[in-house]
Amino acid sequence: MAKQPTLHCSFCGRSRDEVKILIAGQEAHICENCVDHAQEIISQELSVRNDQYTSNYKLSVKRPAELKKFMDEYIIGQDEAKKVISVAVYNHYKRLNQVNPKADTSDVEIEKSNIVMVGETGTGKTLLAKTIAKLLNVPFTIVDATVFTEAGYVGEDVESILTRLLQVCNYDVAAAEKGIVYIDEIDKIARKGDNPSITRDVSGEGVQQGLLKLLEGTEVLVPPQGGRKHPEQKLIKVNTQNILFICGGAFDGIDKVIARRINTHSIGFNVNKEQQEYQKRNLLQYINAQDLKGFGLIPELLGRLPVVTYLNPLDEATLRSILTEPRNALMKQYQKLFEMEGIALEVDNDVLNFMVSKALEYKLGARGLRSICESILTDAMFDLPGSGETKFHLTLEYAMHKFDKNRMNFLKVA
Ligand code: ADP
Repeated sequence: MAKQPTLHCSFCGRSRDEVKILIAGQEAHICENCVDHAQEIISQELSVRNDQYTSNYKLSVKRPAELKKFMDEYIIGQDEAKKVISVAVYNHYKRLNQVNPKADTSDVEIEKSNIVMVGETGTGKTLLAKTIAKLLNVPFTIVDATVFTEAGYVGEDVESILTRLLQVCNYDVAAAEKGIVYIDEIDKIARKGDNPSITRDVSGEGVQQGLLKLLEGTEVLVPPQGGRKHPEQKLIKVNTQNILFICGGAFDGIDKVIARRINTHSIGFNVNKEQQEYQKRNLLQYINAQDLKGFGLIPELLGRLPVVTYLNPLDEATLRSILTEPRNALMKQYQKLFEMEGIALEVDNDVLNFMVSKALEYKLGARGLRSICESILTDAMFDLPGSGETKFHLTLEYAMHKFDKNRMNFLKVA
């Protein structure tokens, strides 16, 4: 019998044995590596000529009150932050219209309204940014400021932010150029001390310097696959002029900076003792750019983050509402999971109060509610599927028992 000829990839020449998959065409073959490579080339080419195809992202601009109403469905409380962000986002998109020269011929130029949010971890900063991006239907990405270092040092260049933004919208440059970037942990790149001369501050002030141009608006050549620029990679030009940057951070200890500035005695003037106490605990409401400067953000960066807002710490009532009220509240999610098994989940009110008290006791905030629910419901979610049960009644006694049993694991996770 005649020996079959060895097949080769017609693109890279690798033989059948050297590849995992070899797809046959009419008179040629292609291997999985070349398919991947071709896909990359297609994405890049399309991004360069993206005005020739229609984008999936159709920007829908809403008025501030509508924006806030939408946020109310997902986020409990934080009214001040919601209001400030709604206005900033609305003005930002008004500005986008103005950037279109046909839309406006006056010479008043509206500047960007990049935002900085200050609030303890787990108070909803990321959730706010994510929710607004969802409503506006624009590409959105979250980056962590701590991974960046000044250009030329080990770590990521700040420009990799744009690579991520391009990746989430499949290299639709026009869409990315109107996207929203959430930079988390901006407080962690605060200047370390007042004496920069001893060692170079490549992950603090150096990064802040790197962010300046990006935040203000500039054209950047972005490597499509991320990483450092290298000669063979075809770069994509992205203009950041219309990208909205929202920064967030816990700024631990900033209350002392605020207190020093406003001299705590004067804020309580004309209010009763209880209100004075409340004001002292909620110093964040008085935050301004000067305090952030005191914390170590450089004035040039603050100049490019003109909108400053704050998020309140979550109290008992807010945590309780977070469990049941938002559109995709935790309890609604568990109810859905049980419903999918044909089981009606009924939860007693005192169980919800118990969950909140544990989240407060272990200082876990809203993020901890999830792990508390898991520790209580995992056994039920293991045992009930296929058991024929149609109802599960979660009582306080059951919840306390399961929580105590899993407390050790739970603390390890926390
Ligand atoms: P942060 O960015 O401030 O650290 P996140 O936005 O990541 O906090 O919040 C963590 C989780 O806690 C969210 O996914 C959400 O489930 C919940 N959460 C926090 N704050 C709220 C809030 N105000 N309303 C509803 N859910 C909240």
